[in-house]
Amino acid sequence: MQSYLKHYIDGAWVDSIGGHRHDVIDPATEQPCTEITLGTPADVDAAVAAARTAFETFSQTSVAERAALLERIIEEYKKRIPDLAQAVSREMGAPIGFAMAAQVPAGLGHFLSTLKALNAFQFEERLGRSKVVHEPLGVVAMITPWNWPLNQVTAKVAPALAAGDTMILKPSEESPGCAMILAEILDAADVPKGVFNLVNGDGAGVGNALSSHKDVDMVSFTGSTRAGIAVAQAAAATVKRVHQELGGKAANLVLKGADLGAVLPPTVQGVLANSGQSCIAPTRLLVHASQVEEASAIVKAMMEGTEVGDPTQMGAHIGPVVNKAQFDKIQGLIQSAIDEGATLVTGGTGRPDGRNVGYFIKPTLFADVTPDMRIAQEEVFGPVATITRYETEDEAVKIANGTPYGLSATISGDPAAAAKVAPRLRAGLVTINSWSPDGNAPFGGYKQSGNGRENGKFGLADFMEVKTVVGEPG
Ligand code: NAD
Repeated sequence: MQSYLKHYIDGAWVDSIGGHRHDVIDPATEQPCTEITLGTPADVDAAVAAARTAFETFSQTSVAERAALLERIIEEYKKRIPDLAQAVSREMGAPIGFAMAAQVPAGLGHFLSTLKALNAFQFEERLGRSKVVHEPLGVVAMITPWNWPLNQVTAKVAPALAAGDTMILKPSEESPGCAMILAEILDAADVPKGVFNLVNGDGAGVGNALSSHKDVDMVSFTGSTRAGIAVAQAAAATVKRVHQELGGKAANLVLKGADLGAVLPPTVQGVLANSGQSCIAPTRLLVHASQVEEASAIVKAMMEGTEVGDPTQMGAHIGPVVNKAQFDKIQGLIQSAIDEGATLVTGGTGRPDGRNVGYFIKPTLFADVTPDMRIAQEEVFGPVATITRYETEDEAVKIANGTPYGLSATISGDPAAAAKVAPRLRAGLVTINSWSPDGNAPFGGYKQSGNGRENGKFGLADFMEVKTVVGEPG
């Protein structure tokens, strides 16, 4: 078992002040794999104090100094890729090959794209009689989920360092190991003490203490809409900036007449990759009535051709979902679709054949799903796709926009036709014939999917204050 019982505060590994031990469970074996300490508000106070002190000097560093710091981090990160992949795989169940090829590189990508954005960023501009300046924002609290753990952590840490902020990270208690290794990486890269701090904990304890803390200037949160609302409520009394990256329920709007054999595999892949645990997984296929049967056959073959297996083994299989709560929630949503009259095309409740242990889910497809069903409205976060038929493009757009979420949407079909539909979709990201975002372009949600933007220059700007100076000589 990996042991990470200390927090990283003010450049040192320190004991918790009154925290208690917590086991992280390997979702493939249901056995403990890592132990951490769930911290306390006293730990948060110590970390915030260290970050506040460090801000005095770190906020005054030059862009060149911060760029050099990011370069050192990139070098140290590369050295730890296998360790990071092991930690991600063990704690949240991503197969090791996928962790090496996708989960860990995603984190490196944020440091690389932030470095590029920092070197090109325009910190000052003149507007009329004024000089407008982007300045470091202050002390940033970061609260992150387990599903793409390094991606979510680095999407905050990289721009905050680039901006000249200091920070306290609370990674998910489901996948803390990779964040602990990241702390070691930052330490090895000589990030000045107090600039980066890590306090492990749960939402009710450390998460709430960070969100409500009077000396925290911004809380950057990625996770469920439920917890994002709680963070905003806790933050309200101190009027700190609240940066929310929340849940999603992406449509895959398949344009009438699309070549389904060509466009469905690369988009439906987003429902299977990472066992469906991606906030932008395009799970809601909207298919013209004339092509429903063909689409159903193609997606069924994809689902049945996907092996579910041991995350420690190399291969193209998918692993389990992260924990029992997610397993039970997904089983409940699959059952709800059956009860509400959807047609189960393949998959269903229960574990895949031959598996008695681990939170493994059968890749599942439902057809005849209507937009009001729970399976069409609630985030499943498992390898489960639905097909909903439409008659007109207007109807398809209405269904695509018809959930409280607006993180992303996918369009499958002729790219020129898709470009005309993209402006009609109320989502922060529209992907055409793929499901992947662009690490240099802004990422964030509309509606109840959040209000922040991460990645590249937009992400950097979100971690800075803007000052206007009127009357300075031009
Ligand atoms: P979660 O909301 O349960 O937990 C996320 C983090 O918030 C964890 O660190 C948790 O400890 C903390 N937390 C929980 N309750 C809190 C509270 N009351 N106050 C402060 N912190 C609290 O989410 P999860 O299950 O870890 O992650 C899955 C969710 O994250 C999905 O909804 C997914 O769509 C979303 N997500 C969004 C994005 C995005 O960029 N928009 C990216 C990845 C995941």
